[in-house]
This record gives sequence, C-alpha cells and structure tokens, in this order.
Amino acid sequence: MTSAAPTALPVYISALSKYYGAFRAVDDVSFEIAAGEFLTLLGPSGSGKTTLLMMLAGFARPNAGSVRLGDREVIHLPPHKRDIGMVFQNYALFPHMSVGENIAYPLKLRSVGRAEREERVRRVLDLVQLSGYAERRITELSGGQRQRIALARAIVFEPRILLMDEPLSALDKQLRETMQIEIRRLHDRLGMTTISVTHDQREALTMSDRVAVFSRGRLAQVATPSDLYEKPANRFIADFIGESSFIPVRRTPEGLVYGDQLLRLADAGDGAQADPLLMLRPERLSIVRPGQVACDEKRNVFSGLAQSVVFQGESLLIEVRLDPGDVVLVRQSNRAGEAANRPGAGERVDLVLDRPDARIVSAEG
Ligand code: ATP
Repeated sequence: MTSAAPTALPVYISALSKYYGAFRAVDDVSFEIAAGEFLTLLGPSGSGKTTLLMMLAGFARPNAGSVRLGDREVIHLPPHKRDIGMVFQNYALFPHMSVGENIAYPLKLRSVGRAEREERVRRVLDLVQLSGYAERRITELSGGQRQRIALARAIVFEPRILLMDEPLSALDKQLRETMQIEIRRLHDRLGMTTISVTHDQREALTMSDRVAVFSRGRLAQVATPSDLYEKPANRFIADFIGESSFIPVRRTPEGLVYGDQLLRLADAGDGAQADPLLMLRPERLSIVRPGQVACDEKRNVFSGLAQSVVFQGESLLIEVRLDPGDVVLVRQSNRAGEAANRPGAGERVDLVLDRPDARIVSAEG
C-alpha cells in the first residue's frame, strides 16, 4: 500500500443501503478504506457500484447507513461540502470553456484569487503532462487528453478523496492501459484516498491496492488483487476474476474426493461449506501423456480425453473431459518446449494439479 499524504482521509462505510421501491440497489454494505488507499469497486452491470459511489459523493441519498470521512459523518452534507474530487466516465468537461477555464472552475467556486488560480492550473497541467494546453479548446483534444483534463479538474483543489466512475471506459484498449498506469502513478505521488468504479477486472487488478467486488447490491468480497485471485470467497468471485473451471467434490471421512480419487489440497475450505467445488485455474493445470506422472502427496493427476485445442496466439486453450464426466479448460503457453505434450482432439491425457494450486470454493454466492 502507498503511504498516505498528510491530508488523506480514511472512509468508513457502515450498513449503507439504497432502495428503489422494493428493489435493493445497495443492500447493507459495510467496509473501510484506509487513508491513501486506492480501492476499486468491481462487479457486473447493475450490481450497485455507481449507486454506492453516488452516495459517497452526495448525489444519491441512502435509505439507511452512514458514511464517515475521517471522523466526520457526511451523510447529510451536499456534494460540494464533502471535499471530494470526481471524475465521470463521459469527462463532463464544459465545451464552451478553454482547458484552463475548465480546470480553474472548482477553484473559482471556492473563491480562490486569480493569480493563485493560474498558478495552480499551471502546476496541475504539469502533473497530468499537458503543460502549455491552458488556452486550448476542449474540442481540440483527444480522448486521452480530455480524460487527463477531467482528472486535473478533479484534483486541482486538492481534495482529500478522489472518486472516479468508469474513468477510462470511453478510451481504446491501448490508451486505457497507459492511463491506468498514469493514474496509479499520480495517485502514488499525491497520496489521496481514491475510490474508482469499473466493470473491467483487469483494470481493477492493475490499479488497486484492494478491490471490493459487488453482486446484486451486496459486497461479495473485499481483498487485495492477489488474494481475490488466489483465495476467492466463493464460485461467483472465482468466476468473475480470471478464468476457472469447477468440479464437484464429496466430503468423506478420509478427506475430499473427486470421482474415487482422494484430493491433495492447499486449502480444504471452510468445513461447513455446502456443495464444495474444486477450483481449477486453466494456467495451473499441466498436460502430460497418460501414466507419465503419478499422484503423490504433492500433486493430483486427473485422467481424461482432450476434446478440442484452440490456438489463441500466446497460448492454447485445451478442453478436456475428465473421466467422471466434467469438462475443464487447460491453458498451455505457446512455447516450443510445451509442444511435445500438446494433444490432438480425441487423445487421452493426464492433467497435473500441484497441491498448492488445489483450492476448494463454495458454490454459494
Ligand atoms: P453498470 O456497470 O451497468 O454501470 P452498476 O453496478 O454501476 O452498473 P448501478 O448503476 O449502481 O449499477 O445500478 C444498480 C441497480 O439499481 C440497477 O439494477 C439499476 O437498474 C438500479 N437503479 C439505478 N438507479 C435507479 C433509479 N433511479 N431508479 C430505479 N432503479 C435504479
């Protein structure tokens, strides 16, 4: 985690709910964001991310719950009294104003004098690497430049908290990836608490200290990117973050069993779990010829039939039907060394899963 700027504030969200009639857009959500942390709200369309962000900003009124910025309850404060900078997905810049006038706008609202306004605009333009653009018209800028101006306008008054709603969704893939790194760098330099919304899991993993995943208005899990990937709380998270196949396993007195095979597991999951599943990340399975590797304390070996092999450039995706009948995906890197183990469709294969990569998740969620 980055060190917080002296002025950065923690955010405490407690039992926050927003209903539209009987529909719960945000349903009893509680978590904390540390001072200076970069946290992303991630989830499928309609899961309540924007509604939550709007409640933090003060544009939507919750039905219940509390939002504290530091030690201040802000639930009854209007947006401009919350000391929050905001960047929206469609930039929301004023087209009739120049770049400089756009950026100076929040300073004018706060009655900052002209000389200081000009100085701060110059400094923030340096920061977003658009020095010398103050006189330009908004219509003369590219999408990425507009996004940087929107960011400059959101941070020019040095808010203690920055909120961003899908800030990069209008940009093409390459620019989006560059901007992800740039925004993260800017956050690290300024150290403000930042909360961003996205439905792009790669963007969330790239930019964030922690990610809060939402499902149907509820917080499903909040964790670091690597914990979300390695230790998903349930099948929904495992499915949403990265690729995964799942096979049903049974509890027996000896341990968890797939077909008639006792599993060697890194994590047997919560003992009370109903419907345990073995999570199989495609890149963690390796393909070998039948009988080439034996099961032991350190690894699991599953036998099956290769069904299809799809070339995807840097890797190949191979579909295998395991003998008990479940179909799983295996990703094999496209290296010459791996080609010897590459099956054709219809060939028998063994799949090797090392014990540390064998994790159980619950079907619930
Ligand atoms: P997306 O990724 O598509 O932007 P989201 O996770 O940000 O989705 P929200 O915009 O927070 O989702 O919406 C959550 C749910 O609340 C959705 O089902 C939406 O239809 C509903 N909703 C949002 N605003 C209203 C409203 N003013 N009246 C009724 N329902 C609403």
